[in-house]
Amino acid sequence: MRKDNAHLRESIRSKLTSGSLFPPSERTMARNGTGGLCALCSEAIRATEVDYQTRAVGMVRSHPSCFRVWKEEADGFRPPPGSGQ
Ligand SMILES: [Zn+2]
Repeated sequence: MRKDNAHLRESIRSKLTSGSLFPPSERTMARNGTGGLCALCSEAIRATEVDYQTRAVGMVRSHPSCFRVWKEEADGFRPPPGSGQ
């Protein structure tokens, strides 16, 4: 099942902006999927797929492809200017 990448990217960006999603940490493990939901695209990570588990504030599970978008968006993400007034 393939999601529209642009839509996913936009969703991740808005979560980063609102603070409901934090930048991914370096501590990421690849496991076999167990049918759990991907935190980024909200689709199940099937047993035939890889489950990326990132430990930051809590455990975030995602597809490798979703993780890549998350990482790219987090790397390019900067807090809006004028914050911390
Ligand atoms: Zn996903």
